[in-house]
Amino acid sequence: MTTSKNIEAVAAAFGSAFGYEPAGVWSAPGRVNLIGEHTDYNLGFVLPFAINRRTYAAVSLRSDSIVRVASSFSQTPHEIDLSAIERNPENDWAAYPFGVAWAIQQITDKPGIGFDAFFDSDVPVGSGLSSSAAIECSIGLALNELWAAGLTRQQLARAGQLAENEIVGAPTGIMDQSASLLGERDHAVFLDCKSLEAKSIELGFDAENLELMIIDTRVAHRLVDGGYAARRDSCELGASTMGVSSLRELSVGDLPRAHEVMDGVTYRRVRHIVTENDRVVETVNKLQEEGPRAIGALLNASHVSMRDDFEISIDELDTAVDVANRHGAIGARMTGGGFGGAAIALAPIERVSEITLAVLAEFELLGYAKPNIFAVTADQGARRDR
Ligand code: ADP
Ligand code: MG
Repeated sequence: MTTSKNIEAVAAAFGSAFGYEPAGVWSAPGRVNLIGEHTDYNLGFVLPFAINRRTYAAVSLRSDSIVRVASSFSQTPHEIDLSAIERNPENDWAAYPFGVAWAIQQITDKPGIGFDAFFDSDVPVGSGLSSSAAIECSIGLALNELWAAGLTRQQLARAGQLAENEIVGAPTGIMDQSASLLGERDHAVFLDCKSLEAKSIELGFDAENLELMIIDTRVAHRLVDGGYAARRDSCELGASTMGVSSLRELSVGDLPRAHEVMDGVTYRRVRHIVTENDRVVETVNKLQEEGPRAIGALLNASHVSMRDDFEISIDELDTAVDVANRHGAIGARMTGGGFGGAAIALAPIERVSEITLAVLAEFELLGYAKPNIFAVTADQGARRDR
């Protein structure tokens, strides 16, 4: 679907749901993380970019304090009074927009005004592309304008994170919202998760005719709860053993000492984080000095580190990465939390169909579920569309 069709469609859907015209349409993209995995909660570096898949929000203020939200996923509106928003499983998906309304009021310390909102999206849900940040940032930008809340984009990212942490109940970081709000066409967001400083880095994919392929294995994040918590615990243990507040404080030169003072498993977890931070910085350097074709080895090294040191890959992801590389990818790696989800492959546009067919064939041969494969480009962050 083209963007203008999306805008018309969401405005029309708002009309059907609420019986009047929306005041405007805002949209925000999903994101993919090019490199920097599990580094966020270790206060390190990440390099995500906003993708050309967006969530559109048609919104109007009301004259009372009622909030009604509907979506093409579930047309019956969820309704709540602005003053009554709290964590509640009955909110279901509406916890995302409710949470953002709550968070903006918290940050500004001013009561908001009731509103109606309708959401329509072409961000795939559950492929690790952060459909949740897209919904948060689209409504966040809309309310910031309609309420004249005056928040910066960085503050809106924080509002999205607060919504997710406090009202949805997911202990996530600020990377997804930062990418969705700060993204630019053909640029990535280099985010320092300690200082929260964000810098826009040109990718140069457009000039080199490169695309980023998403190979979604459709394997649900197996064991993700236990595995994720265990990795976080290992990182904390590693940091405290080394006497630092977070693994961010360590560099590659500290690894020999780390090897001496901790058990083998903890050491390998630490080594992934320390080297991954290094790879993010190195990727930024290479993009700036040599261009995108020079980052392939870093993407591949990131995958090996997650597979062997952090131990969060699965056979399907390893296969996707190997096949993509054998068929002309510049580099590839698993992305996201691990134990399932998607791999990414940076590829020349003319190799995308060959890689797609090769991955599909290999998955079929090995008896894996059919993966969902598509390409994305780096697109503009949240914006008003109408
Ligand atoms: P991810 O952000 O990786 O896609 P999450 O589990 O964080 O996965 O968020 C997905 C959830 O976000 C969905 O289960 C749904 O509740 C909500 N969501 C995302 N987009 C929409 C939408 N357009 N309409 C309604 N709910 C949505
Ligand atoms: Mg999410």
